[in-house]
Amino acid sequence: MSDDKSGVTPFTDENVFESFDLPFKTAVQPQQLSLDSKISFSCYKGIKCFNACCSSIDITLTPYDILRMARHFDIPTWKAQLQYTRPYEMDFHGMPGTKMRPVDGGAACQFMTDEGCSIYEDRPTACRYYPYGTMGMHRKGASEFEDLYFVVKEDHCKGHEEDNEITIAEFRKQQGVEIYDEMNREWLDIIIKKRSAGPTVGAPSERSMQLFSMSYDLDGFRLFTQGDGFVKMFEIDNDLRKGIDENDEELTRFCLRFLKQVLFGEHTIKVKEGAAKERYEERKDIIKGKHDANVEKYSLRDPTKGVDEG
Ligand code: SF4
Ligand code: SF4
Repeated sequence: MSDDKSGVTPFTDENVFESFDLPFKTAVQPQQLSLDSKISFSCYKGIKCFNACCSSIDITLTPYDILRMARHFDIPTWKAQLQYTRPYEMDFHGMPGTKMRPVDGGAACQFMTDEGCSIYEDRPTACRYYPYGTMGMHRKGASEFEDLYFVVKEDHCKGHEEDNEITIAEFRKQQGVEIYDEMNREWLDIIIKKRSAGPTVGAPSERSMQLFSMSYDLDGFRLFTQGDGFVKMFEIDNDLRKGIDENDEELTRFCLRFLKQVLFGEHTIKVKEGAAKERYEERKDIIKGKHDANVEKYSLRDPTKGVDEG
């Protein structure tokens, strides 16, 4: 990693973790790793802690994680969400997040078996990285994300005691995280952008939360892009249409592009000539109804009127 950009604050082991709300008592080691950093780690069936990490889980899922689980079981994403995940709030604005749902009445993962993970080839990003982690960070003034890695040292994990030196790059390859990182990147970018909008912009609107939630149900999003309203509104060429309809990775990429367009006005999907006006005309009554309801809901009573006059 290069620290030679002038006018920017370089990340150091001291400041890099300050930017994140790490829990007070955390197993994250305050040391940043790069792709070339050497680690000593090995995990295999037969190690004395086998399955220890899957016995008490707290795993945040990304949209692509849910999609892969759904494909593993050949079910739609909404069903995978219902059966294998639970919602939680990612921040004090109530930004919707999703975690893996453990077994009923316990903390173990639903997919843990005596043989190991029963969805190994489609296991989530956090499982692939454990006991390491990654975060993408924007340096001040930089347009590109920079990937940083860190180690999570928990007493139960004996893999750190194994004599097996590899680099973070080799570890990532072994764990097959490349495609996951690619699919997760834009989604993390949206979260960071929404968080950095901060109190000056106020809490995100209910509508923007609903839109963000769409990313967890990518099959539902695919249907949404096939609906009349969407088709009338956006210019989608044949190749992209085919990609969205038939390829899950294309679908994921497009969903995140769409969210960036509607949440942050990053116009990368062409709107058809006159479509916005036409859509407005169609929905004018609904929009006015909502506006009137909000005026009614939020308007202050006239203090000069008596209590009985409302
Ligand atoms: S999905 Fe697999 S690797 Fe991840 S916690 Fe569950 S059993 Fe463990
Ligand atoms: S606790 Fe660590 S070494 Fe043990 S099974 Fe889990 S990842 Fe592997």
